[in-house]
Amino acid sequence: MIKTDIIIIGAGPVGLFTVFEAGLLKLKCHLIDALPEPGGQCIEIYPKKPIYDIPGYPSILGYELVENLMEQIRPFNPGFTLGEPAVDIKKDVDEQFIVTTKQGTQHKAPVVAIAGGLGVFTPRRPPISNLKEFENKGVNYIIKDPELFKEKDIVISGGGDSALDWALYFANDFSKKVTLVHRSQQFRAHNDSVQKAMDMASNGKINLILDSEVSAIEGNGSLESVKIKSKASKELTKINCDYWLPLFGLTPKLGPIANWGLEIEKNAIKVNNSDDYSTNIPGIYAVGDVNTYKGKLKLILCGFHESAIMVQSAFKRIHPNKKNILKYTTVTGISGFGE
Ligand SMILES: Cc1cc2nc3c(=O)[nH]c(=O)nc-3n(C[C@H](O)[C@H](O)[C@H](O)COP(=O)(O)OP(=O)(O)OC[C@H]3O[C@@H](n4cnc5c(N)ncnc54)[C@H](O)[C@@H]3O)c2cc1C
Repeated sequence: MIKTDIIIIGAGPVGLFTVFEAGLLKLKCHLIDALPEPGGQCIEIYPKKPIYDIPGYPSILGYELVENLMEQIRPFNPGFTLGEPAVDIKKDVDEQFIVTTKQGTQHKAPVVAIAGGLGVFTPRRPPISNLKEFENKGVNYIIKDPELFKEKDIVISGGGDSALDWALYFANDFSKKVTLVHRSQQFRAHNDSVQKAMDMASNGKINLILDSEVSAIEGNGSLESVKIKSKASKELTKINCDYWLPLFGLTPKLGPIANWGLEIEKNAIKVNNSDDYSTNIPGIYAVGDVNTYKGKLKLILCGFHESAIMVQSAFKRIHPNKKNILKYTTVTGISGFGE
């Protein structure tokens, strides 16, 4: 049994920063994540995209932010259980929580902070019978490393920001050929991106195919071509390619968290935001994208703020007889826990 002061479910940016804020109050943390590496959406969805609204960083890539957070929390030596979804939470006889993962690892603490973000990431898969055969062999739903697509023939499907952003990125003298397929004439992406894609299509940098869908994929071991069906004429066009990127978005699934007796609203955990981001179960808090309250913004900086407030309340629960006085790190410095 792993014992700590705060069990954090979710090692996205907000879960990671919670370790730092808790560490300043001398509270130890252990993080659990279903994914094999920390970073949440920043690593899983957009590691190489620049983020422009992290205070103090005019621009920082998703993976760089996570690297910096890992560096920042190192002095507080958090524990990690990675690649294991937390599936069960229950109270022990001493009123502490026991959190168990799917693989059976047990963790015990007086406080649990749920920083589960959007939950478990599940890409929306197009209905193509042999799709699974080519997953990660030419069919990718998430672009983790753009270098993989350098000088390659790429077909992208989708009409949202992700599809448009990546089509523009790859068409900018990066990939050999970029084809963008969309089932309609209307896009859901930002107007600016749509205009840029139209301009690139008219000067031949993007092969834009509208009112059409990829209806079949072929290859021998790895993807070699896709067949694109026109919705109007039903005509099929075969396009040879190295990669097909169906970017239809990720469905957020709260997963097991939804069955823990927490008050859920809009697929998120309801918290008391006027106080301390506590849930309806005393001792369980929810911070970051996973929570909801009036005026909630699903932004990294908002999650960071929530963590700072939440740990103050956690401190009072863990040490009811101790007084905590807010001190600036400029005054105290960082004194970690050591190895
Ligand atoms: C394309 C894109 C661009 C974005 N750009 C910006 C931006 O410019 N600025 C900005 O502020 N925000 C941006 N965001 C939003 C930002 O990424 C989120 O607000 C942020 O990731 C939330 O952090 P989090 O730690 O709360 O959750 P997440 O990053 O979602 O991490 C949650 C973690 O919890 C884990 N988890 C969930 N359930 C369980 C379970 N039962 N057991 C174990 N682990 C579990 C997940 O695996 C995941 O790793 C963007 C999002 C996307 C998709």
